[in-house]
Amino acid sequence: MKIVCVGRNYSEHAKELSNDVPTEPVIFLKPATALLFAGAPFAYPDFSTDIHYEAELVFRIGRGGKDIPESSALEHVDAVTVGLDFTARDLQSKQKKAGLPWEIAKAFDGSAVVGKWIPLPSDVADVRFSLLMNGDVVQQGHSADMLFAVPEVIAYASRFFTLQPGDLIFTGTPAGVGPVKRGDVLDGFLEGEGVFSLIIQ
Ligand code: MN
Repeated sequence: MKIVCVGRNYSEHAKELSNDVPTEPVIFLKPATALLFAGAPFAYPDFSTDIHYEAELVFRIGRGGKDIPESSALEHVDAVTVGLDFTARDLQSKQKKAGLPWEIAKAFDGSAVVGKWIPLPSDVADVRFSLLMNGDVVQQGHSADMLFAVPEVIAYASRFFTLQPGDLIFTGTPAGVGPVKRGDVLDGFLEGEGVFSLIIQ
């Protein structure tokens, strides 16, 4: 099982990190060991002092495939939720500056939080989600604002990586990312329904 993530998929977020708006999806992977199911606490790692939350829509692959066409891509998806792409921003900035890969900043244990699975809605281009930190709304997203919609991401990623049942697609974060500290509580909502509540330890 692998986790396929899209970076810079919302233009306002690309801008807040001073990144160019991409013309092709920016893809990176996390291993299965990065997965943290909602309900378990997130243990703040000792290798970073600047862990950021990134709330994202997460789609689950139900049927595998390679070179999946955009037109049938959604037939390969069986559920959606909100998740967190935890990022060690200090390490990521250092790696980016040196032109080095991001994995240590992005793919560490517990860095991929997933909420409760919800059946796929009829229109994946019209899904709203939000993240609350300690009761305050810190991120709000709408799938219509993605630079690369879910079918495009699946078609693109499956050119390189065979997708298998159980693989997850993290579709990028809207603007509003920020740091967490021990004791913070993060609550994820999909269309107003709570899908996870997580404490930072
Ligand atoms: Mn992300």
